Amino acid sequence: MQRLIVQGDHSDEVTDVQSRLRDLGFEIDDEPGRFGPSTFRAVRAFQQRRYLLVDGIVGPQTWNAIVEASWHLGDRTLYLKRPFMRGDDVVALQQRLNALGFDAGRQDGIFGPLAYAAVRAFQREYGIAEDGMFGPRTNAALAGLRVDRPGIPARIREELRHRHGRGLAGELIVVDPGHGGDDRGVLGPSGVAEADVCWTLATLVAERLAGAGARVRLSRTEPEDPTEEERAGRANEMGADLVLSLHLNSNPEPTAEGSSIYHWVTSTAGEQLADAIQHEVVTHTGCRDCRAHPRSYTILRETKAPAVMIEPAFITNPDEEKLLDDRDHLAALADAIVKGVRRWAEVGSAH
Ligand SMILES: [Zn+2]
Repeated sequence: MQRLIVQGDHSDEVTDVQSRLRDLGFEIDDEPGRFGPSTFRAVRAFQQRRYLLVDGIVGPQTWNAIVEASWHLGDRTLYLKRPFMRGDDVVALQQRLNALGFDAGRQDGIFGPLAYAAVRAFQREYGIAEDGMFGPRTNAALAGLRVDRPGIPARIREELRHRHGRGLAGELIVVDPGHGGDDRGVLGPSGVAEADVCWTLATLVAERLAGAGARVRLSRTEPEDPTEEERAGRANEMGADLVLSLHLNSNPEPTAEGSSIYHWVTSTAGEQLADAIQHEVVTHTGCRDCRAHPRSYTILRETKAPAVMIEPAFITNPDEEKLLDDRDHLAALADAIVKGVRRWAEVGSAH
């Protein structure tokens, strides 16, 4: 689906959205097919629940999320294919297998190689033909089991995989400058482009990380504008240990200001990394603390390594735009970001 579905629309697509949202428990009393105020409220409530941008508009991301949310475990056969299968049925499968002590990966709803290997291991242990396909037989076996062998929860396993205390020496860090090429990102009130700021900041961060002993790669060249999936795919192919995506925040209200950092919804490592960077940025640049938040952005979800999206300022705020145009300020910002990454890699979390 390419077209946006918005309030005021009257179409079969609206009917589809309404019936799916109703199945998910949202109340809608608009006439079927008419995108009125109660459909708008339901879309916003759904977006909020799924950590999407809350705008009440059904664009490609919200539509995909609605479709994914509609799958229940056992509705379909899950197997390894490209692109990977996605949905809430995969989340349920990962939860069950992880609880049983198999390693199905973090509960991201993506049926990738880890989930495939976990299904095979489950089938082997329970005497089911070992084909890595989650179909009716495997579902029946899984449904009949009590969760009596509590394994290591997925988030602890993610911790172990990305063990703290190693420092940055030899770590492969992918820095992802947002936008690029023809996509200039958001423009500030006096015309500073998000893409240019992200590029400059990325090169400053990359230099400093390399100075700290890390191996550093950028997710793109300057004239390129890869999709979020392509950026995540490149980071995965390179075997990234860490991904730092750089963007700027924007708001119709020009006084909106400050730094926010986003991490994948269920990634503890990502959350700790986001907190560590945010702490240093706020301390060293004196900007307003808009905190770290869970988000379901594609770049955060599709990367295998812990990832954060850093939005250190609002380019729509005239004062912050001025600072973003100042290379010394960006250098200070890069210092703070790298300090946060180092602290996270060396010390990890206090709890
Ligand atoms: Zn951006």
